Amino acid sequence: MAVLIVDDSRAMRSLLRHILKDAGFAVIEASDGQEALECLQRCREIDLVLVDWNMPGMDGYAFIRAVRAAPAYHEVRLMMVTAEAEIEQVSRALAAGADEYIMKPFTRDAVLEKLKLLGILPH
Ligand SMILES: [Mg+2]
Repeated sequence: MAVLIVDDSRAMRSLLRHILKDAGFAVIEASDGQEALECLQRCREIDLVLVDWNMPGMDGYAFIRAVRAAPAYHEVRLMMVTAEAEIEQVSRALAAGADEYIMKPFTRDAVLEKLKLLGILPH
């Protein structure tokens, strides 16, 4: 399985990359929504995208809307990674088509638990 990590923070991408590689995933990275859309076009085998909310250029919310507007990507799972604890932003992400969300800061176990909820990892 392949996971695309989208975050403008190199440290956050690195943290997620280590967790996901240890769990056996192939990992691709992008630093904003536009670059992530280009990755999706190039690598059709991406199963899951972990996407930050706050990014310069195309942010996570706009990215999720763009992916969900494209029928070619309807099987791609989307998980929002956000520091915003406000329930309103979580609701906006879910209404826009995010399948799950996780709040920063998170633990390795919390990430793996969310992947189980999505059916990406076995229970
Ligand atoms: Mg950010």
